[in-house]
Amino acid sequence: MMTTQVVNPATEQVVTTLELVSAAETDAAIERAQRAGADWRAVAPGDRARLLRRFADVVDANIEQLAQLEVTNAGHTIGNARWEAGNVRDVLHFAAGIPERLLGNQIPVAGGVDITFHEPLGVVGVIVPWNFPMPIAAWGFGPALAAGNTVVLKPAELTPLTAVRLGELALEAGMPEGVFQVLPGKGSVVGQRFVTHPAVRKVVFTGSTEVGKEIMAGCARHVKRVTLELGGKSANIVFADADVERAAATAPYGVFDNAGQDCCARSRILVQRSVFDRFLELLEPAVRGVRVGDPGDESTEMGPLISAAHRVRVASFIDPSTKVAFTGTQPQGPGFWYPPTVVLPDTPSDRVLTEEVFGPVVAVVPFEDEADALRIANDTEYGLSGSIWTNDVGRALRVARGVEAGNLSVNSHSSVRYWTPFGGFKQSGLGRELGPDAALAFTETKNVFIAT
Ligand code: NAD
Repeated sequence: MMTTQVVNPATEQVVTTLELVSAAETDAAIERAQRAGADWRAVAPGDRARLLRRFADVVDANIEQLAQLEVTNAGHTIGNARWEAGNVRDVLHFAAGIPERLLGNQIPVAGGVDITFHEPLGVVGVIVPWNFPMPIAAWGFGPALAAGNTVVLKPAELTPLTAVRLGELALEAGMPEGVFQVLPGKGSVVGQRFVTHPAVRKVVFTGSTEVGKEIMAGCARHVKRVTLELGGKSANIVFADADVERAAATAPYGVFDNAGQDCCARSRILVQRSVFDRFLELLEPAVRGVRVGDPGDESTEMGPLISAAHRVRVASFIDPSTKVAFTGTQPQGPGFWYPPTVVLPDTPSDRVLTEEVFGPVVAVVPFEDEADALRIANDTEYGLSGSIWTNDVGRALRVARGVEAGNLSVNSHSSVRYWTPFGGFKQSGLGRELGPDAALAFTETKNVFIAT
């Protein structure tokens, strides 16, 4: 039997040891999910909605426990972790509105009636990364269950604890056996089986672009449906006509939240040249002021990185030739700490500008005018999110339309609301999660003509 040790990244202490699900157990779970599907899709819409609301209520009653688990397992700050558990509840409440609103069309035709149905796909496999274990899981399983699918979910190797607990809470809430199963295991074993098992009709994958491409290629063999949420290299564009004080004060939180382990991290700050020096002067105290430390402390703003190996990867972006403008603080002692770091790259080909760091490292780059800002912002294979700081409404809209990314915010850094669509352009992904159309990613449209 294979096991894995779960480590607290803030203390380096082993939290618990967990059994890993094998390939044979994965197959058995997929077959259970397939069998459970026949009954689940036949549950009356109102009853399916009620079950999802009950699931949401049970999550709500366990917010503090789930949040503490995430602090321990992932080093998330307690404030973030509470928001994340609350997000699971909210996604479930939103999903509870789906079964009774999964409307088809009635389309005018000659000689009869034509109607469309949104049929469930069957078994959906959800593969989750370690950076936001709870919300990313729920964005998949919430709407998938609501639309009448059954779900097998694989959490990341490093962060299985909250997902396992959510699986228990689903049963506690009265979700039928086999409808929602959590399978902690390896990507190469459990995740791969989701890709290769013919009964899994869709894979929802969130993770690295590299693995995402493999998943997509594997799914092609079965023409299996796939949603991909992959990496990012998002731009925070600050124009000279913006509230530069506010832009500088908030920039650290647009990139260093969750220690930069955020696919939406605004890891490139583009600043119009006329305010470049002033912006950096204002950014320095803001970065030094980020409170880095014990994630369980209510006042902490940034915790540790997820693992020792990941810290080595993040550190590899800074070499002796890197121009580091300034850094923030980090605690001493055990824990996978890395300080907020601001760099000034010399060339557009610097790795820190082309690759996703997934840590608290941000590059600041000057630009000349609107066209130059757009050119630099789009000079990346990614396209997930971005921010635009300007007080000119026309410019805000022009630039928002011009940036090739799925989630943009003007004069703010928000990317994710469960009732608005989320996903990437270019190599940041394929398909959308959340938002008004969330359920449609988990259904097939069926057209039926009835001769009269
Ligand atoms: P990862 O790609 O290494 O792993 C993601 C998941 O895939 C894990 O559960 C892993 O076990 C599984 N996996 C790995 N190899 C597999 C395989 N061959 N077959 C099936 N499953 C496999 O990514 P990670 O390091 O956990 O997460 C970090 C990445 O996730 C970053 O690139 C980040 O940008 C991305 N991310 C994207 C979004 C988004 O919504 N676009 C959100 C969060 C994270």
